[in-house]
Amino acid sequence: MTHCFYGNDHEDFRRTVRTLVERSVTPKLEEWDEARMIDRSLWKEAARAGAVGLRIPERFGGAGTDDYRFRCVVQEELAEVGAAALASSIAINEDIVGSYLTRFGTDEQQSRWLPGMAAGEVVTSIAMTEPGGGSDLRGMRTAARRSRTGWVLDGAKTFITNGYSSDLVIVAARTGEHDGRARLSLFLVPTDTPGFQRGRKLRKLGLHAQDTAELFFDELRVPADALLGEEGAGFEQLTAQLPLERLSIAWRAMVAAEAAVRWTVDYTRERTAFGQRIIDFQHTRFRLAELTTEVEVTRSHLERLILELNEGTLTAVSGAKAKWWATELQNRVVAACLQLHGGYGYMEEYKISRAYADARVQTLVGGTTEIMKDIIGRGLAGPRPRRDA
Ligand SMILES: Cc1cc2nc3c(=O)[nH]c(=O)nc-3n(C[C@H](O)[C@H](O)[C@H](O)COP(=O)(O)OP(=O)(O)OC[C@H]3O[C@@H](n4cnc5c(N)ncnc54)[C@H](O)[C@@H]3O)c2cc1C
Repeated sequence: MTHCFYGNDHEDFRRTVRTLVERSVTPKLEEWDEARMIDRSLWKEAARAGAVGLRIPERFGGAGTDDYRFRCVVQEELAEVGAAALASSIAINEDIVGSYLTRFGTDEQQSRWLPGMAAGEVVTSIAMTEPGGGSDLRGMRTAARRSRTGWVLDGAKTFITNGYSSDLVIVAARTGEHDGRARLSLFLVPTDTPGFQRGRKLRKLGLHAQDTAELFFDELRVPADALLGEEGAGFEQLTAQLPLERLSIAWRAMVAAEAAVRWTVDYTRERTAFGQRIIDFQHTRFRLAELTTEVEVTRSHLERLILELNEGTLTAVSGAKAKWWATELQNRVVAACLQLHGGYGYMEEYKISRAYADARVQTLVGGTTEIMKDIIGRGLAGPRPRRDA
């Protein structure tokens, strides 16, 4: 199945990524967990190997490819070693900030930021969620007002991935109102701007190696050209990118589940109880049969959606369906795999233990499962499409 989805170019690329992961990721996982931070040197190494900056145009030092399957390869290789924190940090740079800049940035904005991102020298964040709420974006409080020379931002954000280490943050802020609801705009904010402050590195259930932080903006002044795209079009810009963002999370979820099943097959083939291998108990085999089937069915659906993304036909509803399904699946599968590891599954030195903690956030970030179902349900409850249409 996989061989149809990928071509020779992707498999050649996989070899490069695997070498990078073996050399520079696997040996560092524990150190990063302890430091609650990914070493900045990794970004540069990943850039040298061509594993980041994939979509960034070649004139800015990237690979200039719109074929999302290359990014799928990176995520698969990171999932195999249980590097979920790095996988999601890379996705923020590549799938979110990189995509916003390539899609909505002016030539000047792209020339300023994309070469550094492609070289692994600039790490980025996207800041939407606030202490008062994340699901209801139009209830956002952070505000930007015009000044003589540009904009002044005031407010606070929380749960921001890469928030402690990033050099550039795309900040969503209200720049007006319509029917009592915020009109949003997006701003490119360098983190060395006076008035920009980081709060503490937040302690989390999982994804320990990822720095997640609160951010504060106090009379933060940026020039007029910090506005990304049109004033007041932020909500539409965010919405336009959400199918990609959600499919990216769904893919990470599916490949993490796939890796967990592989580790569990290996473990249960080695471990014995009552004089036989754990995998020889009928219950174990049935469980693994169910898990591997569920993951495989999900993979073939997601592969189809990735091809739709490549063709520009992926819809918001398809992205929402993929996201809730795959992330809930990931949580079910990883929990079942941990159970089959017995007590060792609870020990930190086993990858399944970290995978269990790392999986939990997936049904929350990028829109919760409930919000995904609301998007899908609203489509079903709306006007009926004509059957002959
Ligand atoms: C580790 C981590 C990293 C994150 N990284 C980022 C980041 O980089 N940038 C960023 O901007 N944000 C980030 N987030 C925030 C994340 O996107 C939000 O947590 C998420 O959108 C939910 O918002 P909330 O936490 O405010 O929950 P709330 O919006 O307060 O929701 C609470 C509960 O109410 C439910 N609910 C809300 N509205 C509805 C509704 N209409 N119908 C039914 N149920 C509803 C929710 O599903 C949820 O169960 C991150 C979060 C975490 C935990």
